[in-house]
Amino acid sequence: MKTPLMVIQGEMELAQEKDVPLTPEKLSSLLDDVLRLSRLVHDVLDLSKLEAGGAELRPSAENIVEMVSGLIEKTQFLAEEKHIGLSMHASEDVIEVSVEKSRILHALYNILINAIHYTNEGGQVQLHVERMYSHDRQDEVVRIVIEDNGIGIPQEDLPHIFNRFYRADHSRSRPNGGTGLGLAIAQQNIVVHKGWIEVRSEAVKGTAFSVFLPTAKERLRENL
Ligand code: ATP
Ligand code: MG
Repeated sequence: MKTPLMVIQGEMELAQEKDVPLTPEKLSSLLDDVLRLSRLVHDVLDLSKLEAGGAELRPSAENIVEMVSGLIEKTQFLAEEKHIGLSMHASEDVIEVSVEKSRILHALYNILINAIHYTNEGGQVQLHVERMYSHDRQDEVVRIVIEDNGIGIPQEDLPHIFNRFYRADHSRSRPNGGTGLGLAIAQQNIVVHKGWIEVRSEAVKGTAFSVFLPTAKERLRENL
């Protein structure tokens, strides 16, 4: 957060003290910084609210298969920029879940964007959506797998990647890095829906995140 703030402050002080007019280019890059910061502040506040149990869910009946295919349509251009093949396979056309759509989309988006971001040019990102039985839950769930053949996550980083602001070594050294909030937000949004996330990864070979959510059938029974 500090870096964009310092940039904004510095540019404005310069404009004021030295009477240097802000060019349209400067202004638009400053506006980008402000927008990035305001998204970040929003995300941090939302995450704190989720963790404190203070977020009220407004769930509705949604078809998770349709949600995932909509997400792919919206991110396709980002994959194409890196010549990454983005594909999806669903075991059926309709799997109903009871969710607050924007929260689940946000979670899946963060994981999918990571898959594209941490996969080299020409790679593959595949999504699978399937209904399955969870022995742990003793009930039916839907599993959404987001699998890439990217750079992978070192084993020693795996236990920490869902922590706020944690970034694996390979991404800390990248110039245009993120903040390490994406997965923390994704996990909290899934957990408030009584779901969970699992991850498997191997350096060089790639990474697979699995998101599990109760199907609407389970919710209905729970509410009876
Ligand atoms: P942000 O999402 O806040 O912009 P970020 O991507 O660094 O920043 P997270 O999304 O929380 O943060 O991910 C945490 C770290 O996990 C990343 O920095 C990266 O090192 C690692 N990571 C996450 N997904 C993948 C992936 N699909 N392949 C390789 N590494 C990954
Ligand atoms: Mg991320």
